[in-house]
Amino acid sequence: MNIIMLGPPGSGKGTMAALLSKKLAIPQISTGDMLRAGMKEGTELGRMAKGFVDKGELVPDSVVIAMVEERLKAQDAQNGYILDGFPRTLEQAKALEGFTKIDTVLDLELADEKIIDRLSGRRVCPDCSRTYHVSQLNGSTICEKCRTKLVTRKDDEAETIANRLNVYHEQTEPLVEYYKEAKLLKNVKTDGSIEENFSEMLKVLGI
Ligand code: ADP
Ligand code: ZN
Repeated sequence: MNIIMLGPPGSGKGTMAALLSKKLAIPQISTGDMLRAGMKEGTELGRMAKGFVDKGELVPDSVVIAMVEERLKAQDAQNGYILDGFPRTLEQAKALEGFTKIDTVLDLELADEKIIDRLSGRRVCPDCSRTYHVSQLNGSTICEKCRTKLVTRKDDEAETIANRLNVYHEQTEPLVEYYKEAKLLKNVKTDGSIEENFSEMLKVLGI
């Protein structure tokens, strides 16, 4: 099954995609993680992307489209995949149709106030990309899985969060209507706990 995770920043795309990836044994393809990995390694792609990512702006379409097209050619993506963070513009959605066929689009819904709380309290493991919320860490500052010190993403700072929300409403939200018309859209409310949201998602998917 080829799945897109749509939804505002902080709606749980990454967390839900990771759980679903395990359950369905298909890869999670996160453009944000790919860009951040490039930034960390200082690749040409990473250096190019950094200015946009840190400010909460979108990286140019041509760059992310080429990156995803290449990634979808890999062996592990031939039996299905979960796109997390792509497409984010109408142009990306149209380009995607040129090289693959999408089966389902999951639209994760969350109100702006909740988004701000989630993003400002988010901590991320720089090694495995796993995310946490400060409220679940009980004062701990390291990743449960790999014992690495957690960090706050630069784009999770207050001013940048507001910008990302604007960018989402202006450039990405139109995709909800686009995929609704294509009859691919399924809505998932994500204001519950991780477990509640995930079981709701499985129900929506009929699995
Ligand atoms: P979130 O969903 O929490 O905003 P992501 O990790 O998906 O986080 O994205 C972080 C940043 O990476 C975005 O703000 C943007 O700068 C860049 N990015 C990720 N995916 C795309 C994309 N499909 N198109 C353009 N920029 C992207
Ligand atoms: Zn980790």
